[in-house]
Amino acid sequence: MKKVVLVIFCLFLILCGFYFLKDRLFWIDKFEFLSPIDYSGDIPIRRDYYGEGNFGAKRSRGRRLHLGIDILAEIGSPVKAAKSGIVLNATRNHGMGKYVEIKHRSGLITIYGHLSKILVKKGQRVKQAETVGEVGKTGNARNRLILPHLHFEVRKFGLPQDPVNYLYLSSNKDRFKLLNALFPNGKNNTHNSQ
Ligand SMILES: [Zn+2]
Repeated sequence: MKKVVLVIFCLFLILCGFYFLKDRLFWIDKFEFLSPIDYSGDIPIRRDYYGEGNFGAKRSRGRRLHLGIDILAEIGSPVKAAKSGIVLNATRNHGMGKYVEIKHRSGLITIYGHLSKILVKKGQRVKQAETVGEVGKTGNARNRLILPHLHFEVRKFGLPQDPVNYLYLSSNKDRFKLLNALFPNGKNNTHNSQ
C-alpha cells in the first residue's frame, strides 16, 4: 500500500515539475531562427519600381539604408515569431506602419513591419513560430506600386544585422550543421537558397 502512495506522490511531483518547467522553458527553440513567412523554397525578396528589399539597399536617394529585408508575401499571410521572446512593442509608427518588435535572448531583437493586423500585445511572451500578425501595406509600404511584403529586421545589441545571415538557408549551411543533422530532409520551414 505504501508503495502505491509513493508512486502516486512521485507522479504528482513529476507533473508539477513539468508544469513548472513548461513556463520557464518557453524560450527553447527548435530552430536557431525561423523564417517569419512560411516558404518551402527560397525566400523571395522584394524588387519593384520603388526599390530592392535586400539589407543595406539605398532608400531616400541614398540618404539612408534599408535596415532589414523585405520578404514578399500576400496580404493577410501569417507572420511568425522567428524566435521565442517577449513583445517589446506592438504598435504603429509613420514608416513601419503597424509593427511588432520582439526581444529574444542573447541581445537579439526582431522587428516585423507594414502589418495589416497585430495579434500580440506589449509584454506578451511568444513562442517560436507563433503568429504575431498579418502581412499588410501600412506605413511607407502603402504605395500601390510597392509589392506587398513583410519588412523584417534583426538587431543584435542594438546594431542592425542582415537577417539572411540568421535564417536557415543553404548558403548558410555551415552555421546550421547541427540542425541539418537533426532535420536532414529540410523539413519545417527550412529554405534551400537565396
Ligand atoms: Zn523594408
